[in-house]
Amino acid sequence: MSSSLRFEVVGEAFKKKAIDVPTPSERPSEFFAKYVFTRQKMFKYLPAEVYRKMCDVMDNGASLDLKTADLVAAGMKKWAMELGVTHCTHWFQPLTEGTAEKHDAFVEHDWKGGMVEEFTGKQLIQQEPDASSFPSGGIRSTFEARGYSAWDPASPVFVIGDTLMIPTVFISYTGEALDYKAPLKKALHAVDKAATDVCRYFYPEVKKVISNLGWEQEYFLVDEGLYATRPDLLMTGRTLMGHDSAKNQQMDDHYFGSIPGRVAAFMKDLEIQALELGIPCKTRHNEVAPNQFELAPIFEETNLAIDHNMLLMSLMKRVARKHGFRCLLHEKPFAGINGSGKHNNWSLATDTGVLLHAPGKTPLDNLRFVTFIVETLMAVYRHNGLLKASIMSATNAHRLGANEAPPAIISSFLGKQLSDVLEHLEDATDDELIDLAGKHGMKLDIPQIPELMIDNTDRNRTSPFAFTGNRFEFRAVGSQANCAAAMIVLNAAVAEALTEFKARVDALIAEGTDKMKAILKVIREDIKVCKPIHFDGNGYSEEWKAEAKRRGLDTEASCPLVFDRYLDESSVKMFETTNVLKRFEIEARNEIKWETYTKKIQIEARIFGDMCLNHIIPVVTRYQSALIDNVHKVQDIFPDATAAGLNADNIDLIKKISEHSGFITRNVDKLIEARKVANKITDERAKAIAYHDTVAPMLESIRYHIDKLELIVDDEMWPLPKYRELLFIR
Ligand code: ADP
Ligand code: MG
Repeated sequence: MSSSLRFEVVGEAFKKKAIDVPTPSERPSEFFAKYVFTRQKMFKYLPAEVYRKMCDVMDNGASLDLKTADLVAAGMKKWAMELGVTHCTHWFQPLTEGTAEKHDAFVEHDWKGGMVEEFTGKQLIQQEPDASSFPSGGIRSTFEARGYSAWDPASPVFVIGDTLMIPTVFISYTGEALDYKAPLKKALHAVDKAATDVCRYFYPEVKKVISNLGWEQEYFLVDEGLYATRPDLLMTGRTLMGHDSAKNQQMDDHYFGSIPGRVAAFMKDLEIQALELGIPCKTRHNEVAPNQFELAPIFEETNLAIDHNMLLMSLMKRVARKHGFRCLLHEKPFAGINGSGKHNNWSLATDTGVLLHAPGKTPLDNLRFVTFIVETLMAVYRHNGLLKASIMSATNAHRLGANEAPPAIISSFLGKQLSDVLEHLEDATDDELIDLAGKHGMKLDIPQIPELMIDNTDRNRTSPFAFTGNRFEFRAVGSQANCAAAMIVLNAAVAEALTEFKARVDALIAEGTDKMKAILKVIREDIKVCKPIHFDGNGYSEEWKAEAKRRGLDTEASCPLVFDRYLDESSVKMFETTNVLKRFEIEARNEIKWETYTKKIQIEARIFGDMCLNHIIPVVTRYQSALIDNVHKVQDIFPDATAAGLNADNIDLIKKISEHSGFITRNVDKLIEARKVANKITDERAKAIAYHDTVAPMLESIRYHIDKLELIVDDEMWPLPKYRELLFIR
């Protein structure tokens, strides 16, 4: 890009106006889920008997026979064709980012020389996409390229444009999971079973426990014209170079500020479309960094919430372009200002009420509450390293323990009241406990509990896993991640903790201990065990890093090494006993993680090298030549100019430029060399480590010199839009 083009692009960006997004004539409650085959639509489009069967499938996991599937497909087709749909696709979540789809038209030969629209039960429930180019970590070798996608009836089908979208799991020919949804569903099943069993100690009528997820999606918007002139944004989703702008987030004037017009139009458009797809959007606001925003829906059952998050992310990208923006979901698009995350608000609820909410109506509610809190903490404590691995990626690594405050350590904030309750339970003497539990173990009264709600206002924003009144908020999840990775580990780990809890309580009961006393005894033991995970202090402080190490928490920050936690015996055992993943699958998935890590850094390094050699160095040399030229010209007019010091400033600048550009040129060569060395390594883990240890740090050290040059070189010549333009044009 020539400098004149840069100014044209920036000029055009400034001229962009908000598009008028018409307000729908209906209210949101009326157009909500317009494009979703909801239960109401099933009721309308399916024969009564088929509707009843579908409810049984959705609510109780009954299996769907082909004959019923044919009738369901016929009803769906009728509904979809009324919306102008001509195609259908299985929509799945492979182990890449994002979702995948392969569209088929609704057409079949009528064998009379014409065509008929057809959509059968078989097409609905199963497809065999040639899936050889999706990552499988070696599970599916290319000669056996078949993967199956199979409908998940718990996720309703929906329509986008002319296509009926059918949410599916994606598995290999031999049954191993090749996606996020298959193990997620198993983890949700495991936590349902384990939590229901524990609930029945308190309330035998409980039939089901549901895991809920409310995510909060952070993102950046950048003008599309500026975006197009940054090869780094285009190829990697983040800026690989760029000096801080004079003003960034230090004034805190963007956070919760009034939403700029073009952004507001984008948000409105996005929300209307998201609501039509059944995503219950609720909250929108400016975030801390300039041009950073957030959208949060109302929480939903975890499986559906994850479908909706995947759908929303692709919708955001599409709608942004309509408004002349690009939506950046990368965790750290800009150095020096906040990155983006995706808080995962997680809770469990029964078919009759919530489980993580206090005060309960009865002492029994309160004991149940404490049980679920403590066993969640046990899960997080035991698998803190694995939970970190579940949210770790090449891109999220920039937030965790690197250039942004949150440390790469998982700990849990509980707040004063809840901490007091746990302390009280732990310290009480047996006599006090008997008092607490009452004669029949029914009068458990924990005085602090009624105050718990007060604590919600005083939240510690530095905790990666904070209790926030009726849920835990897992804050370390990356903004572009599929939440399923974190939700698989969290739900499976809680399932394991609850199952072990129950086994120990049952053993005590079998020895003749009273049920409530048995529960209290085990809880008291566990409160002691999981103590190291509890931390209410400043998670961003240096002291915490040292303290966490002393407590035995996982403090590893190197992304490829953090992935190792998946292969710990404790992790494999947890995944296998909860029936979520087999060792073989975990190994395969880790191969993909390492490979993906390598590829990301490899692409960054390549594009970075290109930008250094094709964008930065030529412009810098040109500017330096202009300075040299000037020195000569001054000398022409005043023959003793240099001797008299008249050229001193320019000569200084010329020297500085030489130092910086010399460093860049030499080190880009070294960077290419380091890549070549790493590329020869065949073991995926070792290769990822090499990329992490040798290639990635060079991007940072070279960048320092480019950013310095940005401050020196004539603004008119600088070939890339600067941070102030990327972050403040909206
Ligand atoms: P904040 O930014 O203060 O954390 P938000 O209102 O932006 O809060 O987001 C909170 C999210 O938590 C929303 O998605 C909300 O629906 C969700 N949430 C609220 N209660 C629960 C719950 N019991 N379980 C799961 N998610 C919940
Ligand atoms: Mg939050």
